[in-house]
Amino acid sequence: MKGTIKKVLPEKRIGFIQPDEGRKSVFFHFSWLKGAAPSEGLRVEFDIEQGEKGPRARNLRILEAASNEYRFHNPYNFVRYLEQQRPDNHVLGNCLPPPHDRYVGLTGRITCKVEAVTPLFVSDSHAVKEENGHKTYRFFLYEGQPALPASSLRGMIRSVFEAVTNSCFAVFQRDEPYPLEHRKSRAPKNMTPARVVELGEKGALLELLDCTVNAPVDISGSPPVVRAGIVREAYPPKVLNRKTNQLFNPSQSKLPEGAHDGMRVAALVTKKPVPHPSNRFRAFQAVKVVPVSEHESLTKDDQHVKVFGWLHLTGPNIENKHDERLFFRWDDEHPDPPQIDQVPNTYLCECSTNVVKEYNHHLSGYWERLQRIVESLGDRRWPSGTNGVPHPSTFVEEGRDLRVGDLVYAQCEKKDDEHTTVKMLRPVCMPRVRYEYPRQEFLPEHLGPCQNYNELCPACRVFGWVRESAGETGTYEQTAYAGRVRFSHGRIVGDCKTENEITLAILSTPKPTTTPFYLLNAAGQPDPTVTYDTRDARLRGRKFYRHQGEAKPEEYTIEEKSDQNRTIRGALKPGATFTFTVDFENLAPLELGALLYALELEEGMVHRLGYAKPLGFGSVKVTIEKTKIIDWETRLKSIGPDAGWQSVNGTQLKQGFLKEMRTCYGEKFDDLLAELRALLATPPELPIHYPRPTQRLDPKHHPQYEWFVGNKKRVEKQHTGKLPPPVALGLATQVEEGLPLIKKDGREG
Ligand SMILES: [Zn+2]
Repeated sequence: MKGTIKKVLPEKRIGFIQPDEGRKSVFFHFSWLKGAAPSEGLRVEFDIEQGEKGPRARNLRILEAASNEYRFHNPYNFVRYLEQQRPDNHVLGNCLPPPHDRYVGLTGRITCKVEAVTPLFVSDSHAVKEENGHKTYRFFLYEGQPALPASSLRGMIRSVFEAVTNSCFAVFQRDEPYPLEHRKSRAPKNMTPARVVELGEKGALLELLDCTVNAPVDISGSPPVVRAGIVREAYPPKVLNRKTNQLFNPSQSKLPEGAHDGMRVAALVTKKPVPHPSNRFRAFQAVKVVPVSEHESLTKDDQHVKVFGWLHLTGPNIENKHDERLFFRWDDEHPDPPQIDQVPNTYLCECSTNVVKEYNHHLSGYWERLQRIVESLGDRRWPSGTNGVPHPSTFVEEGRDLRVGDLVYAQCEKKDDEHTTVKMLRPVCMPRVRYEYPRQEFLPEHLGPCQNYNELCPACRVFGWVRESAGETGTYEQTAYAGRVRFSHGRIVGDCKTENEITLAILSTPKPTTTPFYLLNAAGQPDPTVTYDTRDARLRGRKFYRHQGEAKPEEYTIEEKSDQNRTIRGALKPGATFTFTVDFENLAPLELGALLYALELEEGMVHRLGYAKPLGFGSVKVTIEKTKIIDWETRLKSIGPDAGWQSVNGTQLKQGFLKEMRTCYGEKFDDLLAELRALLATPPELPIHYPRPTQRLDPKHHPQYEWFVGNKKRVEKQHTGKLPPPVALGLATQVEEGLPLIKKDGREG
């Protein structure tokens, strides 16, 4: 019999199933469902037996997702790298590149044909038009004709060459000087409000302003009391009501006139902490806040205490915000700001220069992300104006560094009774925090970009190399190598048909913090919980865009023109054909075999070239028309222009290369090739598009990022069983299952 899990009680590890045939719900215990976490809504199959308290399930198992359920593939996936190091003393290993001034290997020319099998667009960077922030590109032209730039062809071939020779990641984004930041749903522990009272070469001195210390009433119990006071109705009723587009009313704000971040104020604060409407925490509430010069206007009563403190205003920076923060301690009893020697030692805390530096870097990250918005607001930014709120937080400023008087949250760690150390400073209590490890920690050493001229990997020796950081030792060292292949532009052959002007759908920028897409677990398997905090996580490999077979207008084009998307002119229709040549010199037979393989791939496999690859553009088929090498002995003896040129058997060279890779790396090399084939040959049956909440593209009402928000919710709520299990990107070869639609609340789309 079949049914749906309708309730789970994770604490008791039990649940209930609603059978399809409208009977009483059936009890089950989690342990009866082997190897899977039950969740509400999950389809199951089971038999019923009578237990002591009623019907219960036996032979319980999860049903595969129904076949009519919509699934899709992500536009990109990865081809694994090989964990095994490259072979020693081998042309497929690391070695000194051959010289350019003598002929010591195979020299010649490969002539190729390349045909577009989906629409193709390669942009001309010289002819970009911009209107209201919306950019329009035109196709790359050479001598007045559409052409394929040599650099694009070279890049396309190099990426395959790198993958199949297990070469270094020539382009690898290192996280320097710190690991990536991400947002967590829960505040880090022990974030204590503080004010910077001194700043110098040794770091910062903080005055901790924790209002849960020395409180006038007993504050034990739950929900917990937060460490900063709250000024309710700073932005009444809330910053922005998205449904009605109503902004907050500044004239009803409880903030004093001229309020600014770091302002010294006097306030009447509730003597007892008040539960927040959400009932998740309690807080001391400032019911009246005035500039410190007007403190005499405040009189305490039975319920309220008069305190002095500081306003921490990050501004109307989120739609649903209405409160701000008051940083204070109960024994700060004078209107004037206390001098350092008036602050009791227990409130003072030192903070190292490294922590300050990391904080400054954190702030500069905000500036980088939000500079464009801040500059476009100009002097209309809050508090001068409220149009277009939410505005970036007040601490988002050019060149902003930690300074004396700043209000921050310090993540404190008590070392012993006397000493507290600060691990991290942040401007807000729910901050972006750094992952434990930078991405390069996960890259095996032999795959990091080549550093030494004498030990270059196959791709760097064939395509060229420039050392990332030149000249550290001061001694003379070679820091670049020109490579031994030269690509021509691709010249158009015959007529080609162009598409009308196309306004493309929004292309996403890579988001390496979507870790279930970029990492595998220690066992090399997809895992939605793996992050850069996971010590034994693995990078998935080299990113390739999956061949989509055809590009569908309902997927690649939208009407709205904004600064988020682009319009392209002169995209070529499938069938457009070009020729190009690759001149090579001094290649070893195995290197030439690898190059030929990287160029031609296999029957039915395509390359991915140009713009809008995630939308299905840019699949091209390369065919080698001829490969010729020069026999120098004949060439030098004769004056005929074709003397000494001879054809070579490309198939044999390709096979020789593949066979040698298998000898060096074993079956793992076949796993690598299988992934490359899965991505570049016949596409899977499921549709291919960015993850999104809806079956049809609907960026206006349901932006694609909602999918990631929902999946993150699933990860966070995994233990509760209230949402379906989170998902990770499957391996390239796992083409059956695909990904589900996910709404931003974590439910199925
Ligand atoms: Zn290399």
